[in-house]
Amino acid sequence: MNILVVNAGSSSLKYQLIDTDTDTLYAKGICERIGGEGSLIEHKQIVKGLKVKKESPMKDHAEAMKLVVEHLTDPEVGCISSMDEIQAIGHRVVHGGTYFSKSILVTDEVIAKLEKCRDFAPLHTVAHLMGIKGCMETMPGKPQALVFDTAFHQTMEPEAYMYALPYEFYEKYGIRRYGMHGTSHRYVSAEMAKILGKPIEETKIVTCHIGNGSSISAVMGGKVMDTSMGFTPLAGVEMGTRCGDIDPAIVPFIMEKENLSTAEVNDLMNKKSGFLGISGFSSDSRDLEAAIADGPSNPKYERANLAVNILKHNIKKYIGAYTALMNGLDAVVFTAGIGENNPHLRELVCEDMEFFGIKFDKAANDAAPHVSENTKISASDSTVAVYVIPTNEELVIAKDTAAFVENM
Ligand code: ADP
Repeated sequence: MNILVVNAGSSSLKYQLIDTDTDTLYAKGICERIGGEGSLIEHKQIVKGLKVKKESPMKDHAEAMKLVVEHLTDPEVGCISSMDEIQAIGHRVVHGGTYFSKSILVTDEVIAKLEKCRDFAPLHTVAHLMGIKGCMETMPGKPQALVFDTAFHQTMEPEAYMYALPYEFYEKYGIRRYGMHGTSHRYVSAEMAKILGKPIEETKIVTCHIGNGSSISAVMGGKVMDTSMGFTPLAGVEMGTRCGDIDPAIVPFIMEKENLSTAEVNDLMNKKSGFLGISGFSSDSRDLEAAIADGPSNPKYERANLAVNILKHNIKKYIGAYTALMNGLDAVVFTAGIGENNPHLRELVCEDMEFFGIKFDKAANDAAPHVSENTKISASDSTVAVYVIPTNEELVIAKDTAAFVENM
């Protein structure tokens, strides 16, 4: 079944066309600067290995969708002959609040509920609504499903998702831990359970999604027991430009000392902290690794090294804490941009973890700097399996969507 996966941002729209019977990715692309000057589409036909990039006016998401369909059905760069060959559309949705604990088919009632999620992720939710509307206009009557980044985390118990603030803030504003990257944690934990070869109900897995944004989850019996991101994606481990967990009292302290507004302090924690804030020069792990590889002669070495070591320290603490919560550990999984492409960080995290049953295989890790398939990096006699599993959120979205159509 051909499913069009759509990830709508406020001025962009990413898409993939996936055949869920064979797990084949036919085409992918992105429309950028929608509603602005110089909007353009970049389209890749994967099977034929073709690529096009061209400027084309798109005043809204509906026009972007029209252009996507034109490219998908183009005799040269396309991969289908008509829109009829797309059975349904699956949307990635960033925040489903407490309204959505699993994927769902779009109806008027669902759209009304999604409107209520605006408070949690205003820009994203508005963009998703525009994407859904754009698909309705371009492909009327085509089934659409929503797959939420927060849904997989909805299995957490109140003791994991509640903050020890006055209870009325939870009731009034829904302030609680929601977690993010749920589709990725769900995919890699399910893959890991398959590799472990035992029923998912019996598995205890820590999944480390480490990219620009990073989150770590304790997945016990196939359900999230805890996760490092919180009410917002700012919580948890150090990230590219986000600070992760800090003493909350630092916020009013800095605001007072630096005379900052709430918007300014928010900006500081989200966009100027993390790798960028500590290193002073980059939010990208590749730049930090290059400075570290140069050694102390590089003036950037010391702080680049500190930035990476803070992340290592954070991840180790989460693995330890989640092992305690689950009362055991079968596997640790690394995924996302850094997890899949930074062997140095994986080594730093996994060394000196014998107490937890982790015996690292340095040679296997070094042999797989950039991982494109599930790769074992723990020794054969390690009690805990450590794997790098490339994430595939789009495939999960496509499969969830296809399941709805099959049951229609
Ligand atoms: P996002 O959270 O924006 O989806 P990604 O998962 O793409 O981010 O992760 C971005 C991070 O992953 C960057 O720090 C980058 O250095 C690193 N990364 C991504 N691809 C590679 C690569 N091929 N080699 C080394 N590092 C990479």
